[in-house]
Amino acid sequence: MLITNIGELLTMVPRGDDPLGRIAGAAVAIDAGQVVYAGPASGAPQGAHEIIDAEGALVSPGLIDPHTHPIFAGSRAPEFDLRARGKSYAEIQSAGGGILSTVHATCAASDAELIASTLARLDRLMRHGVTACETKTGYALDGPGELRLLRLLCEVQQRHAVDLSITLLAHVPPPEENRSRFVASFAHNTIPTAARAGAEALDVYCDQGAFTREETRTLLEAGRAVGLRLRVHAEQFTHTGVADLAAELGATSVEHLEQLSESSIAGLAAAGTVCTLLPGAALTLRLPWPDARRLIDGGCTVALGTDLNPGSSYTESLPLMMSLACMQMGMSCAEAWRGVTVAAAHAIGRRDAGWVGRGARGDLVLWDATDHREVIQHYGVPLVRRVVISGSEQRLGARPE
Ligand SMILES: [Zn+2]
Repeated sequence: MLITNIGELLTMVPRGDDPLGRIAGAAVAIDAGQVVYAGPASGAPQGAHEIIDAEGALVSPGLIDPHTHPIFAGSRAPEFDLRARGKSYAEIQSAGGGILSTVHATCAASDAELIASTLARLDRLMRHGVTACETKTGYALDGPGELRLLRLLCEVQQRHAVDLSITLLAHVPPPEENRSRFVASFAHNTIPTAARAGAEALDVYCDQGAFTREETRTLLEAGRAVGLRLRVHAEQFTHTGVADLAAELGATSVEHLEQLSESSIAGLAAAGTVCTLLPGAALTLRLPWPDARRLIDGGCTVALGTDLNPGSSYTESLPLMMSLACMQMGMSCAEAWRGVTVAAAHAIGRRDAGWVGRGARGDLVLWDATDHREVIQHYGVPLVRRVVISGSEQRLGARPE
């Protein structure tokens, strides 16, 4: 495949003082799923079977969403409205809202229902330019239920072109189980089984109402022992200090960080732990905006994710997260682009994704824009024109029944 007549190509391979490695008047050639040429159109190889004329458009690497919870059933729309009307979390819970309502609906749903709704969410992510994403279990809570969601995510991967990096999530302790027995069983049984069954990473939610810092250490050490990458939902509602623990254990990513303390920044930077920021959750829950500027200035790598989930960030729009990051979190357009490409690829362990050059995977997005900044400034509207994954153009319409 040859994509030619590209007005602005973002290679994401820095050159000079341009962190996006832009090339004007470019072409990209893809063979056997991999990029074999990215450069001036005049130097492109000849003889492609399939040629896409970009008509002067902006072309970027496929976007990477490093934090999603796409497998769930049920609706939390009533809860959204209660929050909009100023009701407290306690009032929302007594009206049947909160995470446990999603857990009940997810556990009651059939495998076929969960697969179908997850595929539809991946379609929507792709329509917003996403070609790879991290996907977490997490709405069953108990070990067998989480392993079921892991199995279903593996089935979803067989049926969708978007590349999934599947994470086992320890979300909150199941209310009906003895807490210390649950943590021990999850560490000794569920985590090793998940590693054998296709999970690439373990994520632990450490916060008031979720796991404590010491429980989080037990779980993360169990994950590390079986070779899983480590991720932590950290410092969202309360400051627990778990970001320091994550850095100490060499976690790949810490996520949220609304309540991060200044003293944690140097440790995260030194450990190379990606700071995955989730503007949608801050927007929905009216939390303080994560301070991306402080993290970047402190030497941290910052990625951006949707946090797609039914309660606190119900969106598949990663470009909207880029807009929020620039409008509210002190990021430049170039930093936001890196946050959804190379930084996000690092956060999910995909070194061949998030950039365009020889040897990278053939994942590209053609935009209804000519300048990369327009995609961020022109917020909340669909600007994705065409999506290519591994050298195959994807259908962006509704999924056939
Ligand atoms: Zn999350």
